[in-house]
Amino acid sequence: MNCAACGSTALVSGKLVGEDASVIGFQLSDAPWLKRIFAVGNRGIGAYGCLHCRHLQLAVEFSESDLERYQQFEGEQPNVLERINSGSGEPMG
Ligand SMILES: [Zn+2]
Repeated sequence: MNCAACGSTALVSGKLVGEDASVIGFQLSDAPWLKRIFAVGNRGIGAYGCLHCRHLQLAVEFSESDLERYQQFEGEQPNVLERINSGSGEPMG
């Protein structure tokens, strides 16, 4: 991975952690409401700090099933209803 700002490869990896040691996660917009409320199923966020320019960049730790699910749509992601309607009628999740 290269720094998005200066192109350097001198990146130090870490995590975003709050003052209370809580780890910051990435919540999918179409996650079921129960999972949103309890912050269950959030994806991890990898953080990379550049030693050269101190730029901080983030990367979502998508699961394999996330990639399969979202990569079927190229470009801009459709909203939830469009996604459901375009499916084969199988239940989500
Ligand atoms: Zn940099």
